[in-house]
Amino acid sequence: MKLKPNADILEMLEGYEKIVLFGDSGCAQLCDVGGILQLEAMEDFLIQNNKKVLGYVFVEGGLCDIHATTLEINDNMNMLREADAFLIQACGVATQVVTDLIPEKESFPAVDSIFLGVMPERFVHHETCVMCGECVLHLTAGICPIARCAKGMLNGPCGGSMDGKCERDGETDCVWQLIYNRLQSLGKLDNIRRIWGIRDRSLSHSPRTIIHEDF
Ligand code: SF4
Ligand code: SF4
Repeated sequence: MKLKPNADILEMLEGYEKIVLFGDSGCAQLCDVGGILQLEAMEDFLIQNNKKVLGYVFVEGGLCDIHATTLEINDNMNMLREADAFLIQACGVATQVVTDLIPEKESFPAVDSIFLGVMPERFVHHETCVMCGECVLHLTAGICPIARCAKGMLNGPCGGSMDGKCERDGETDCVWQLIYNRLQSLGKLDNIRRIWGIRDRSLSHSPRTIIHEDF
């Protein structure tokens, strides 16, 4: 996730004066878009641009947790009633949760949701999963060829792999080189001989629903 440009945020809030900011201590905070620090920075920015920030709704955990978000909303109902609009500093799911819970007012997304990834260090995120619906990591030594290959190659490297690097920039490791090396070290190189069929794209068609059975 990353915050939208300031100009975009001001444009979507045009005509709305009293704003409440939403954030959470889960993904929003980890991605540096909707922790308390980012809510404070957004408040300063909006005040400088003639907005009134009435306060924050901050959920411990994630705004995607409808139960937790409902409790926070109930605790802040007076402030929310007074607001003209809400600015959601979390993913698109969070904006839709607040829209569903308070449909009489508009919730605006302060954030662009981009990918699932790892954080090798603070402020750095690398894409490692695109939620394809059919995980193949058990065959590729725990390294995703879909999210980490510029072409999503499934049957080994393309012709542009050179000295272990991807032709995209010559610096990024070719993911198939990584997969090969790790399969070799695991004694599972036979996996690479597997010829993959066409992936079932219907598994990544939206909207999807998951119902977990009790077990
Ligand atoms: S194969 Fe890659 S994109 Fe698909 S679920 Fe597994 S990690 Fe995610
Ligand atoms: S060089 Fe490797 S990582 Fe890059 S597109 Fe080709 S197969 Fe994918």
